[in-house]
Formats: sequence, C-alpha cells, structure tokens
Amino acid sequence: MGLIARQLIRFRSCMIRNKLRISPGFVLVLSFAAYFGDPVVLGWVLLAAVLHEGGHLLAAKGIGLSVRHLALDFTGANLDFYRKTTSYAQDLLLCLSGPAVNFFFVTLSVLFHWNPLFLAAHLLLGIFNLMPIIPLDGGKALYAFLSGVWNPFLAGRVLSVLSVLIAVGVSLSGLWVFLQLDGPPNLLLLGLWLLFSALCSCNLHHFPIK
Ligand SMILES: [Zn+2]
Repeated sequence: MGLIARQLIRFRSCMIRNKLRISPGFVLVLSFAAYFGDPVVLGWVLLAAVLHEGGHLLAAKGIGLSVRHLALDFTGANLDFYRKTTSYAQDLLLCLSGPAVNFFFVTLSVLFHWNPLFLAAHLLLGIFNLMPIIPLDGGKALYAFLSGVWNPFLAGRVLSVLSVLIAVGVSLSGLWVFLQLDGPPNLLLLGLWLLFSALCSCNLHHFPIK
C-alpha cells in the first residue's frame, strides 16, 4: 500500500473517530441486550434506530445545522450540532423528525406487507421516543413547545418533574410485572434506564437530539 493511500485511510479513520464516539457504556448495553434478547429482533431495532437518526440528520441539514458528532452511550444515540441558536420551532422539527421517519416506515410496511419485525421495530421506536420524558424526543419536543408558548424556565421544571414521575411509574410497573406476574425484568430495566437518563439530562439548555 502506497504512502498516500495509508495517509488517506489514517485521515478517514480520524474523521470517523471525531464524528462517531462510542462509549464503553453503549457497548455494555448492546451486549446486555444481545445476550438477554433475540439478536434478530435486536438487528431490526438497530436498523430502525439508524433510520430514526437519519431522520434527525435530514432535518438538521434542512435547517442548516452541521453535525459535530454522533455519540453512542448508555442513553442511546445523541446527535450534537455546531450551531446552537435554533428557534423553538426548529427544535420541534428536529425532535419530531426521528419518530416521523419511524411512522413513515410503519406506513410503508403496512401498505407493502414488509417484514412484521421491521414494522414492529419502527412502531415501538416511534412510540417510545415520543414519550414526554427528557431526554427522549417527545420530552424535548414538549419542552420546545412549552418554552415557545410559555416560559423556558417553567417548561424545564415541568419536564424534569414529569420525566421523573413517568420513569418511576414505568419502574414500579416493571417491578410489579417482575415480582407479581413472574414476568421478564425488561420493563423494570427500561424504567430504571429512563430514570437514570432523565436525572442525567437535567441541563435542559443543552440537550442533544436522540
Ligand atoms: Zn430521536
């Protein structure tokens, strides 16, 4: 391999390293999901997640934002942008573009009878991300909406309390399913993950797009 080719590969890998950041926490969560879940289902969910992020990227490009990096950590995928001065309407568009792509593929899957797992993955991901919990898209969209029509400080307080309450509710439901119905601990783990993510996303003036 020539010197120029080697330099090009080095430059390219450096670019990927700077644009895509994968934390050990993400690898741990992915390994955990693959071990306790079905790898085929996980594959469809990951595909739906990639298309979901593609929706956010498309919206970001549409309003002139350039991506600083895509970080994959224990809270999922987080997009960060260079220009931060967006209007609340643009924030709303950015947040809803990911779930919109999921529901677009749900519609296509129903119309053209595509793989049911592909449909289910998009449906679940779309609904899940629209939950009014920070740092999910639904929570950030509600925050942008309330900030625009009301007050950013109060909107932040309302969203913080709402996020923790819903996460605690999901955790307690999961605990009940696990203890009373002898069900799998998935809902309990999801609730705890939501609670942890909500508590980690308390800085409402700088939350990345998920
Ligand atoms: Zn999203």
